[in-house]
Amino acid sequence: MVLRRVYVLMYRLLSIAVLAASTLAYTPLSDDSLHNLPSEESDFDVDEGLLLAPILIPRVPGTPGHQRVQEHFVNFFRKHLPDWAVEWHNSTSTTPATGSQEVPFTNLIFRRDPPWAAVGDVGRLTLVAHYDSLYQPEGFIGAVDSAAPCAILLHVARSIDQALTKRWDAMLASGEAGSGLEDEKGVQILFLDGEEAWVSWSNTDSLYGARALAEAWESTPHPAVSVYRTPLHSISIFVLLDLLGAANPRVPSWFQATHWAYKHLAAIEERMRKLELLETKPANPFLPESNKSPHQFSMGFVQDDHIPFMARGVDILHVIPYPFPPVWHTIDDDGAHLDIPTVRDWAKIITAFAAEWMDLEGSMPTFSPEEKKSRKYSDKSEL
Ligand SMILES: [Zn+2]
Repeated sequence: MVLRRVYVLMYRLLSIAVLAASTLAYTPLSDDSLHNLPSEESDFDVDEGLLLAPILIPRVPGTPGHQRVQEHFVNFFRKHLPDWAVEWHNSTSTTPATGSQEVPFTNLIFRRDPPWAAVGDVGRLTLVAHYDSLYQPEGFIGAVDSAAPCAILLHVARSIDQALTKRWDAMLASGEAGSGLEDEKGVQILFLDGEEAWVSWSNTDSLYGARALAEAWESTPHPAVSVYRTPLHSISIFVLLDLLGAANPRVPSWFQATHWAYKHLAAIEERMRKLELLETKPANPFLPESNKSPHQFSMGFVQDDHIPFMARGVDILHVIPYPFPPVWHTIDDDGAHLDIPTVRDWAKIITAFAAEWMDLEGSMPTFSPEEKKSRKYSDKSEL
């Protein structure tokens, strides 16, 4: 009985401490900022969209299509987002499908840190999707798996880039920069390679890129005086997008530890629907589990790129629908089967989440009332 009481008290203290650490600097966007979120309708055109179309090709690791998609990412950042640092993380592995031949796996990391901050002192919002496609069936595109999530992350990076500059410039001007009053916050996008199994899913035939990266980052120490011991410890939350882009997704809250972050994401969806800023009108929200209570969390989860990071103690927000879209791992998972309004709505929701995480309220672009009106989907349909 006594033991139990102590346990409950400790649990409460722990919950309060975790809550305080996790939510202190998260600032919801105003309605105005939600209205003003950057939006380029053509981004996600499956034939010509700047962001998505170049990814809708087979991209099996080690093939020319795979290399073309890497070039697309690098060229996109070089041309549109030159302030983001790029890091290539290379590894090789044999696979059950390719025998003794070593297959190259290349993770691509794009990162923006506050310009004054030491590398080991920055905690990073880490947005993740895999860009490789299934080895078989031949010609498999993997539009929801995970071309669309990759395109969504390009959209997020471009949508917050100017606001990051504005916010950090203002912090430098006010003397707030590096004052130690706030944690240093950066953002990084991980395009992971080799998520898919080549023959059948196992601990060794899957997650090739994620396993190599988690191991490498864990064993790369930052300078001794750093806030975070390694790049792995610098991940403040690992937000993994997968299988997004089919209509009527239902994304559960998978982990109690990050349910508070799920609730923020769901709140964004709810607010944007009320403000008529989303195109889709599903019977149920994409993120329906805000009110999940602690005893409803089960041990069940989907095996995905977060596993090697979660095993090392990283907090995970897994944005993956369950049930999976019907096209999953079939030849029908192509551009024609994407629901583009759903893709665009996800892009807006994730962008708002990133902006809130990075405290960009007050730094996001503004538009005139007329421009704003044109962004409401109810008004658009009346035209
Ligand atoms: Zn897959």
